[in-house]
Amino acid sequence: MTSEDKIRITACRFCGQTAMVEADTEAEALHEATMRCNCDEALRYQEIRMKAEDAGLQMSQMYKSENVPEEIISLMYKLIDQMVENRLQKAQLTLPNGQKLQVTLKGTGFVVEHSQAEKKKVEV
Ligand SMILES: [Zn+2]
Repeated sequence: MTSEDKIRITACRFCGQTAMVEADTEAEALHEATMRCNCDEALRYQEIRMKAEDAGLQMSQMYKSENVPEEIISLMYKLIDQMVENRLQKAQLTLPNGQKLQVTLKGTGFVVEHSQAEKKKVEV
């Protein structure tokens, strides 16, 4: 397979401006075209995506140091992906031991939080 087979003409998912990109799949091509476009929506998307990578790293570091299970961290990664796609604004998880994990999309950035419930409660 030569690289010429990978050349696809596709359009930015937001404004429809076409671009010639090299990609293995249509989805990849669409992504490439969107990442290269400079319409407002595409620029916002590019910024959120970049920040999401940072947020994912920070989140993973913070939660690992709090002994949050690996499975929950990868779940949070998936939730951050949903925020990049503008399908989710905030993700809040509560672990059985009372730890609260929260990631919020704020403008084109993210807020990552961790808290241990200090609440005292008694049931008799
Ligand atoms: Zn565009």
